[in-house]
Amino acid sequence: MELRRELLTAEFIDPGTGEPVRTIIEVRFDPLTGHSSRILPERGLMPASDFDLEAFALQSQPNCPFCPGRIEALTPRLAARIHPDGRILRGEAMLFANLHAYSSHSSVSVYSPRLHYLPLGAMTEDLLADNLAVQVAFAQAVMAAEPESRWASINANHMLPSGSSLFHPHMQGIVDSQPTTAQRMLADVPPQRFADYLDSERRSGDRYLGNTGRLEWIVSFAPIAPAEIRAFAAGVSSPAELDPDLVAELAHGLALALGAYAEMGFESFNCAIYGAPPGTEGYPLNLRLACRSNLRPCYRSDSTFLERLHWEGAVDLAPETIAARIGDRFRR
Ligand SMILES: [Zn+2]
Repeated sequence: MELRRELLTAEFIDPGTGEPVRTIIEVRFDPLTGHSSRILPERGLMPASDFDLEAFALQSQPNCPFCPGRIEALTPRLAARIHPDGRILRGEAMLFANLHAYSSHSSVSVYSPRLHYLPLGAMTEDLLADNLAVQVAFAQAVMAAEPESRWASINANHMLPSGSSLFHPHMQGIVDSQPTTAQRMLADVPPQRFADYLDSERRSGDRYLGNTGRLEWIVSFAPIAPAEIRAFAAGVSSPAELDPDLVAELAHGLALALGAYAEMGFESFNCAIYGAPPGTEGYPLNLRLACRSNLRPCYRSDSTFLERLHWEGAVDLAPETIAARIGDRFRR
């Protein structure tokens, strides 16, 4: 598979020298969905975090509904027909119903009630595995109770710039009869295309991060968001089909990726694990993980008219640079 890219040249007159200045913009096309993305020269659009997140955490903690002493009383329980206990627990992770539903079955799962402050550098495999495990159990419970809800996804808005309304770190699950736009587009991709894309990335090596067992990890060729990473698991099409080993492997890879984000100075991210209906022939369960602007007063959002209204990525962090900074941590 040839990964398609086009070079554009912009020209302007420098206000200081009066001389013409040329800039190269690379437009890339995502081999799975056809989305295009603009790779811009590096211009500091994503500064490293210089905000005192811990102090902000202390400020927001006294009224946090996800902290110990309040979480049991203030968070909604799952309907009894979905889960008799109303909540799903694993390790320190706790899943409950989302007060602000986005679908017929929306859940929220905290890594731990005690972890109101959880910088990316402190995210461990165990915390991720337990949180993923309660989301997997939620997807299984909904599908058992309501077979028409076949489309599951596990997602994260981490820190306010990513869209999270609460500071306390958590994941979110959606299980629905209706796919999201991206789920629909990905489920429509012919299975061979996923294999061809991964083959191309393995061969070129420029963005290929490694294979952690059953999952392959790459940096996106045409990212919709900064420092975007993708992973693919062949033979599994829904989060509801994830077995404990694959949950552990997913947690391992996510911990590596989030550790790399922390080293690069990023503290906010989005994640989506895009499920298709269980048993979808040839569809590999796949995810996108991307960092978002850092929290600080008057910060610039990384999401502009291009991403929101043109559905076009525009990043000044070249995917190959991100892959080089992540290095060989997925190959050890
Ligand atoms: Zn809290």
